[in-house]
Amino acid sequence: MSTQPAAALEVDFGAIVEAAPLGVLVTDAEGLCVHANPACRRIFGLVEAQLLGRDWRSFICPDDQPRVLAEWRVAAAEHQSFRVEARLLCADGSLAWIRLNAARYGLGPPFGHVLTVEDIADRKSADSVLRIAEEALFAEKERAQVTLNSIGDAVLTTDIPGNVTYMNLVAERMTGWSREEAIGRPLAEVFRIVDGTSGEIAANPAHLAMHEDRTVGLAADCVLRRRDGIEASIEDSAAPIHNRDGQVVGAVLVFHDVSESRAMAVKMFHLAHHDFLTGLPNRALLTERLAQAIGLARRRHKQVGLLFLDLDYFKHINDSLGHAVGDQLLKSVAERLMSCVRVTDTVCRQGGDEFVILLSEIEHLQDATRVADKLLQVFSLPQLIDGHELHVTLSIGISVFPNDGDNPETVMQNADTAMYHAKASGRNNWQLFRGDMNTRAVQRQFIESSLRRALRQDEFVLHYQPQIDLKSGALTGAEALIRWQDPKQGLVQPAQFVPIAEESGLIVPIGRWVMREACRQLKVWQDAGLRTVPISVNISAMEFRHKGFLEGVALILADTGLAPQLLELELTESILMHDAEASAVVLIALKAMGMHLAIDDFGTGYSSLSYLKRFPIDTLKIDQSFIRDVATNADDATIVSAMIGMGRNLKQRVVAEGVETLEQLAFLRAQHCHEGQGFQFSHPLGAADFGALLANGKHPLSLPGA
Ligand code: C2E
Ligand code: MG
Ligand code: MG
Repeated sequence: MSTQPAAALEVDFGAIVEAAPLGVLVTDAEGLCVHANPACRRIFGLVEAQLLGRDWRSFICPDDQPRVLAEWRVAAAEHQSFRVEARLLCADGSLAWIRLNAARYGLGPPFGHVLTVEDIADRKSADSVLRIAEEALFAEKERAQVTLNSIGDAVLTTDIPGNVTYMNLVAERMTGWSREEAIGRPLAEVFRIVDGTSGEIAANPAHLAMHEDRTVGLAADCVLRRRDGIEASIEDSAAPIHNRDGQVVGAVLVFHDVSESRAMAVKMFHLAHHDFLTGLPNRALLTERLAQAIGLARRRHKQVGLLFLDLDYFKHINDSLGHAVGDQLLKSVAERLMSCVRVTDTVCRQGGDEFVILLSEIEHLQDATRVADKLLQVFSLPQLIDGHELHVTLSIGISVFPNDGDNPETVMQNADTAMYHAKASGRNNWQLFRGDMNTRAVQRQFIESSLRRALRQDEFVLHYQPQIDLKSGALTGAEALIRWQDPKQGLVQPAQFVPIAEESGLIVPIGRWVMREACRQLKVWQDAGLRTVPISVNISAMEFRHKGFLEGVALILADTGLAPQLLELELTESILMHDAEASAVVLIALKAMGMHLAIDDFGTGYSSLSYLKRFPIDTLKIDQSFIRDVATNADDATIVSAMIGMGRNLKQRVVAEGVETLEQLAFLRAQHCHEGQGFQFSHPLGAADFGALLANGKHPLSLPGA
């Protein structure tokens, strides 16, 4: 085996270099090119002559040159191998990515260098695609991260076994777990939810979402228990997360705190369904419960009882003692009503002084009447309100499903109708609905529209009831009393329509008509030369408080030309006591105009004597309820004589109302009552008859012993 000579080996190296696909560039110690193999020339795109003698560094793209030179210097100083990636400035001006490796050669110093030149254009372009993709991914992740941390909802993800894989800031705050601590833990540990009503652990929606591969909402009324035990109502949903192949790989939970909105909703519901003053269910809630109760009773073949309650004379108390006392009384009534029923029954305030009791399941009608009896009994005891001992009684109407109606509206309406009959039957009692009770609501509405028409078409008339001096029997005055000449019904008495006119506000124009008519008529009599007596006119509460009242009276007097001294206004105690200070102001103004003032139905109100003394009153009209039994009932006799004595002391004219018998008359005369009004002397008379009485001069009213 022969050994190869060294020269032959060198030749071989040269050939290898010439044939190599790798560019090889040989430089001298200055970096000037002394040799470039074909691969190098190809990469540089130059022929050898263009390369030789030139500094290899001048071929580097100017942008990359500083970096390349800096690295070159470092490598040279530290005698390290040099390796750099940079762009080559090709002859045609284009750039090509290359990698350079350099090694020293020669026996130096100084040393020359051998540089290998590798075309890395392909790799570079693959790199840049990757980098763009990476950047896009990063941006996407960043965007998701920022979004997840800035939205108000908590977001939490799990893997298939149900361990937490991610949570955003809100989720951290709401669960009380930091992301670092939570990740990898079972969801049930981090996201603890319980049923708001039962307090039991609630099913976790993430498992369901993964299992059924669909978005699921959380059960209503769900509560999240934070790590520290604090609870918050939440609303949430869970959705499965899929991989590229569409397989479920986890779940995402999105939830938020609804404690406030839920509390608000609860509050709103309560407000919408309860009476503000008493806290009792209101009409809306009652209607709902009644419908439920009827549905249930229908299935179980049971009955439902409905009691419609109205307080007797509440308006009176409210007017005389003021709204504050009225409100307190209503509260106290509410408590009493509650004490009379079972917890399953509903006591509701219908509005004003009306209450309804729903007996949700009864076996017999007697179950309802028994409750009504109990109510009447409980209300027979006085209620102590603000130092006042108040006696309020109830008028109760009862109707029962299914007998009196098979739907909530009818049952309700019929109980209402029965209640009006209880009122009509003297109050403080209950009435069962009967088919023949006509619906008062319809009647009222009819009357109201008829009254409007009556005003337009002048269907009202005044009757005049004489007032008599009990000593002399002389005619001293008359009370104007309204009647309605209805074309269909004939003459309608005030009890039938004045309360409705009062409630609807129609009493204001009607009252004005009455006063104008009374003044006009009296002036006509006066102008005809008849002997005239003062006429008294009844004033309702609403008229008295109407802001145009004083001006209205003045205008009527001016228009008719009647002397104010011939007009007396009758007001009840409750009207005056409602706002005693304001009343006194109006009374003083009326007095200043020259009119007379009378207190009507005296004894039925809640007058305080000290106030009465402050009002400029001319006349006390003792209510007929006291006169009725004055000859037979010692109590009434005592009261009446006290009232007469009081009036006389206050220098007031005392008129007894409703004098019907000679016995009553004798008693009143013995007590020195000034005057009387009643059937004993005369019924109210039409204008023609009363005019005749005035014309007659001598009065036809026989007064025994006068
Ligand atoms: P009132 O002001 O107390 O009038 C007296 C009522 O007693 C009148 O009833 C009269 O007819 C009746 N009466 C008179 N004498 C007797 C008697 O001896 N026995 C009996 N049982 N009753 C007697 P009327 O006319 O039905 O009026 C009832 C109420 O209607 C009046 O009570 C008054 O409150 C009201 N009213 C009448 N006219 C008007 C009016 O023009 N305006 C207003 N706001 N109310 C009026
Ligand atoms: Mg009167
Ligand atoms: Mg009266």
